Amino acid sequence: MNPVLSVIAPIFNEHDSLPELYRRVSGVLDGLGETWELILVDDGSSDGSTDIIRGLAQQDVRVRPVIFARNFGHQIAVTAGLDYSRGDAVVIIDADLQDPPELIADMVAKWREGYEVVYAVRAEREGESWFKLFTASLFYRMIYRITDVKIPLDTGDFRLIDRAVVNVMNSMRERHRFLRGMAAWVGFKQIGLPYKRSARFAGETKYPFRKMFKLALNAVTSFSYFPLQLATWIGFIAAGISAIFIPIVIIERLAGLQAFAGQATTLVMVLFLGGVQLISLGILGEYIGRIYDEVKGRPLYIVRDAPKKNDETGD
Ligand code: UDP
Ligand code: MG
Repeated sequence: MNPVLSVIAPIFNEHDSLPELYRRVSGVLDGLGETWELILVDDGSSDGSTDIIRGLAQQDVRVRPVIFARNFGHQIAVTAGLDYSRGDAVVIIDADLQDPPELIADMVAKWREGYEVVYAVRAEREGESWFKLFTASLFYRMIYRITDVKIPLDTGDFRLIDRAVVNVMNSMRERHRFLRGMAAWVGFKQIGLPYKRSARFAGETKYPFRKMFKLALNAVTSFSYFPLQLATWIGFIAAGISAIFIPIVIIERLAGLQAFAGQATTLVMVLFLGGVQLISLGILGEYIGRIYDEVKGRPLYIVRDAPKKNDETGD
């Protein structure tokens, strides 16, 4: 029998949070009176989290460990969780308890009302640096503006997703993944639930600036051609300006004036346009690199150890 609820937690060195995560999640799920499974995806931890995950799985058969061969990143870890999940509804939650498991009860209530995606909106955040808050806020607003899908503001991956939507998302095997964008792109009946995002239970953030930047880049390139179009727009503007200025310069020269004389003007223009061209090339390269990655068709992740994808169901 498949469980009604699957809860997925991606884990990268969350040694100190894991027992508490299991305690709180199992408490909430037992209280709901539904059958459940907790999928713990070990994303190449090196701090002993793997042993704790195996221990929890031994102690409780509802805990299903998926152990990666190395660190593949948060979005890929959640993807693996979605692949292995069997529930009618799937909840994605951070392992550091910044997302309160107690909200799962409210999510399930909304799901019962007929919503197929219930995403949690970060109305308040505590215990995070001003830099994180500022960059996160900027990130969500920028993504909202320039992408073609309306991805809800201030919303992370903490959400409940119905099996129908999970199946669609599982069929989207793109490599550079931005799951909250994919969930919005899919459509279906969606609703937001505001919540207060707490401080980490233990440890440090596993999302340094480098990883946040990569996620932002994936979000933009996966859901928008805006950066590619930027080059076109700058090109049109530069061409427009020269169409106006070239005749003016010619007339001035013929009239014997010296307004744009000298190497400085030339140098400034060459450097500026050279810069713009190199940036445009870089943007092109970014998209081409992504095409190359897709074409290679490597697996999204490699598991060292995992339960069979649909064990107990026989299919
Ligand atoms: N995580 C992961 N792989 C990574 C980085 C993070 O599985 O490469 C997990 C991490 O263990 C946590 C979740 O993703 O459960 C969110 O990470 P974190 O709390 O560090 O991000 P933040 O909340 O600071 O944005
Ligand atoms: Mg966190």
